[in-house]
Amino acid sequence: MDEFDCAVIGAGVVGLAVARELALAGREVIVLESEAAIGTGTSSRNSEVIHAGIYYPNGSLKARLCVEGKWLLYEYLDARGLPYRRCGKLIVATSSAQVGELESIRAKAAANGVDDLAWLDADQVHALEPRLHCLAALHSPSTGIVDSHAFMLSLQGELENAGGVVALKSPIEGADCREGALVLRAADGTLLRCRSVVNSAGLGAPALARRFEGLNAALVPTPYFAKGNYFTLAGRAPFSRLVYPVPEAAGLGVHLTLDLGGQAKFGPDVQWVDSPDDLVVDPARGDAFYAEVRRYWPELPDGALIPGYAGMRPKISGPGQAAADFMIQGPAVHGVAGLVNLFGIESPGLTSSLAIARNVGELLAKV
Ligand SMILES: Cc1cc2nc3c(=O)[nH]c(=O)nc-3n(C[C@H](O)[C@H](O)[C@H](O)COP(=O)(O)OP(=O)(O)OC[C@H]3O[C@@H](n4cnc5c(N)ncnc54)[C@H](O)[C@@H]3O)c2cc1C
Repeated sequence: MDEFDCAVIGAGVVGLAVARELALAGREVIVLESEAAIGTGTSSRNSEVIHAGIYYPNGSLKARLCVEGKWLLYEYLDARGLPYRRCGKLIVATSSAQVGELESIRAKAAANGVDDLAWLDADQVHALEPRLHCLAALHSPSTGIVDSHAFMLSLQGELENAGGVVALKSPIEGADCREGALVLRAADGTLLRCRSVVNSAGLGAPALARRFEGLNAALVPTPYFAKGNYFTLAGRAPFSRLVYPVPEAAGLGVHLTLDLGGQAKFGPDVQWVDSPDDLVVDPARGDAFYAEVRRYWPELPDGALIPGYAGMRPKISGPGQAAADFMIQGPAVHGVAGLVNLFGIESPGLTSSLAIARNVGELLAKV
């Protein structure tokens, strides 16, 4: 049987950040990834926004780790000259009821430590973004966009410089966690005895944890899958900042984000699906986007939205339920020494990745 100090299952942005953190702390680390490349899961199918930490419930892990992760990420990107742009974001109110909601969004953000939101009236918004239609807006100067692939490659490089290894095409099927053991079972039958294991398998994390013999299955949350479809804009981006409507229902509303190449896209919407592999964008969903977007950009031309890509949110709360927090489940919760499960790492998981890694490092340092 092979032996390793730490194994991290999953080479998405969170698994890579955790693995780097552990390797820099002097631990021997292997990352086991089922696919042939790093970052091909949800980490390749998101908005690449560095979120400020505005909307999450005060005291939640999402609120704390997003704000901490945002500053860690900016510091990390600056120190290495990696591509990002702190372009800022406008949260726009298009009805008088929504104007009232801006105030509660600002209060919620302040409670999370995001105290830099500026109130703009319609004229001030017009001066910044002449084509944007709204009654008032909040400006978030600490929101940005990042090249998530450059970030992941950098994490991998630093992990490997610190002696860590990424093993691709290495799907893990299950584990034996009984009687103090932590033995991973790979799909090819290889057994790997580890002192620590981090289950960072994203969409597959709950299903994998259910195959950990000796782990109390009642502690493993039920997975739900909420697809987010994007439509890209044909032609030039009308705005230079990200534009979000006041959030309604399950997501953040059909918002406009930009990538570092200047391409504008709208989305993601929220479509509950049964399978995490259901990633095809149905062009018909674009119809609903036009009405949503025209509330704040009435000039959106007919036919300008082109089906883009979709990402899958690894949810642990279902339709109609209150949104669940990140679940970082260590030995104090499940009693298996050396094991950490990461469940429900949806948005803002990219922003929070370095802070999640720090948190996991602290949990495992106590082992
Ligand atoms: C539509 C959408 C938009 C988003 N926008 C943003 C945003 O703008 N900003 C932000 O901060 N966050 C955003 N997020 C959230 C962010 O993308 C995720 O939180 C983050 O990418 C999760 O990373 P991860 O490493 O946990 O998961 P993943 O990237 O999914 O990585 C998990 C890895 O585990 C591997 N794996 C699975 N099972 C096994 C197994 N059994 N054995 C070995 N390997 C396995 C997979 O192949 C995969 O590579 C968004 C998410 C979605 C869905």
